Amino acid sequence: MTALPSLKWAVRSDPGLKRTSNEDSYSTRPDVGLFVVADGMGGHVAGEVASRVAVEAIEAFIQETAGADKNRTWPFPFDPSVSLEANRLRAAFRLANRKIASAIADSQDLRGMATTASAVLLGPQGASVAHVGDSRVYVLRNGKLEQLTHDHSWVEEQVRAGTLTPTAARQHPWRNVVTRALSGGDDPEVDVTEVVPRPGERYLLCSDGLFTVLPDARIADLLGDMKASLDAIAGALIAAANDAGGPDNITALILHIDAR
Ligand code: CA
Repeated sequence: MTALPSLKWAVRSDPGLKRTSNEDSYSTRPDVGLFVVADGMGGHVAGEVASRVAVEAIEAFIQETAGADKNRTWPFPFDPSVSLEANRLRAAFRLANRKIASAIADSQDLRGMATTASAVLLGPQGASVAHVGDSRVYVLRNGKLEQLTHDHSWVEEQVRAGTLTPTAARQHPWRNVVTRALSGGDDPEVDVTEVVPRPGERYLLCSDGLFTVLPDARIADLLGDMKASLDAIAGALIAAANDAGGPDNITALILHIDAR
């Protein structure tokens, strides 16, 4: 088996300026090539529980199936049109959704909780990017910022239909309304994109507390700073979101692909 691409990473998560708790969760597991950001919903304790349950479930499944064959996407069927990594990630998200269902079944207080999840899973041939909800994954390549995920959100649907501009979407009162989430319902549809990471590229996984207050150009500027450490860049992204009001929890997870 070929080794995973060598990389550096950094992550910061912050409650922002308006909220007392932080309902975002994340996971960094370079040993199995996994990086996840999740943004919980459902109010206070429930939101924190939802994002943590999801992140832990995704992490556990990816760890258990590291080096495994395709049968390990059980109990979900293997989709031969995408890579083994994409299949594992999709199965991990669906199991996370079932864990949320069990947590809700065990506790009345958690009813209505849900979470987004966005993940990158590096494999020997490339990387799989999966998401449900409106946490995003971007890549900065050759100085250009590209969004690899399409938000499952009401405003994104309006932008796609041409009835809202991206700027108006950022200010819309319904900007936080997601149309798909891990909520413990039926097995969710999980969007998966496959990419081949190249040396010098930077990937950013983030919650909506970052991109609803920062335009892409600003994110690109900060992420592309080649003089600052990745940790300083993650801190600068959080600071910029807070300077812009910090209305929501903010998580920024950065991957920098090294030369092989
Ligand atoms: Ca949020």
